[in-house]
Amino acid sequence: MQTSSRTAPAVGGDSAVETAYLPVLALDIGGTKLAAGVVDGTGRVHSFLVEPSHAARGPEPVLERLLELGRRAVSESMLGWSQIGAVGIGCGGPLDAEQGVLVAPPHLPGWRDVPVTALVEEAYERPATLENDATAAAAGEHRWGAGAGTQNMVYLTISTGVGGGVIVDGRLYRGAGGNGGELGHVTVDWHGRLCRGCGRRGCLEAYVSGTSIAERAQEAGLSVATAEEVAAAARGGDPLAAAVWDETVEALACGLTSIVNLFEPELVVLGGGVTRSGEQLLGPVRARVRADAMQPAGHAADIVVSALGDKVGVVGAAAIVYDRD
Ligand SMILES: [Zn+2]
Repeated sequence: MQTSSRTAPAVGGDSAVETAYLPVLALDIGGTKLAAGVVDGTGRVHSFLVEPSHAARGPEPVLERLLELGRRAVSESMLGWSQIGAVGIGCGGPLDAEQGVLVAPPHLPGWRDVPVTALVEEAYERPATLENDATAAAAGEHRWGAGAGTQNMVYLTISTGVGGGVIVDGRLYRGAGGNGGELGHVTVDWHGRLCRGCGRRGCLEAYVSGTSIAERAQEAGLSVATAEEVAAAARGGDPLAAAVWDETVEALACGLTSIVNLFEPELVVLGGGVTRSGEQLLGPVRARVRADAMQPAGHAADIVVSALGDKVGVVGAAAIVYDRD
């Protein structure tokens, strides 16, 4: 089902070249929220809508609402369907990007082998492209965000889980089936905590995801529900929260040091809800990675926060359409 917008029927344009640069309808399927927006070839966001996923209700009602959200995003963009050339879809893996199938994403219970690309193409009569959401976000940050102009860049999203994407020599690294760049499952302690995402022990995700930070804090005796509360308590001088936060910094710096040693990126971009803590997280992590990574790679890589913020999922899903051309 993989179709590039270059080979699409020239909707609203007279030539294939024009079609390739038509605005894209971008869809982001998350475990907690669905997002849709219209993004043009310069990265400008013409509309942006978000609503809860209610993922537990199963694929059919969720997809129905996603398609409806996409229609509303087009009508609110003021551009009209005739100007939409293609659709980009971002979703957590595992997925088969070439076939356009969601294999069994753990954040979407009951979704198994859902041919999402075909369903979207049929509904909108436009070619659609599917990509892992973190890989797509990396493409978005590289094309239009914090990583614009870099040749080698790593993107890490730290939210409910931890995902990643890698740009090597100016191009998105996707792996054999589009599932490469799972940076959240870099091991930071091989006897360590159980990882919900993959079932192994000691993954980066098992320490620094929002869920894991809150869990470790609760185990330490703090009555908190979120990573944000842990960060606030640590800022407020609570010694237990400060210890949990220090461990978070240590684990993230440990994982990022391995990642920096592997790829020698010019830039590491961090996104996702946990990075709203800003320099409370980035400051000490940056210092440790610079000290611990093999030189000169460690000195070369800066660590910054995502420029696209909450829109990174939608902008990334649009970026992959332009990237595939
Ligand atoms: Zn894992």
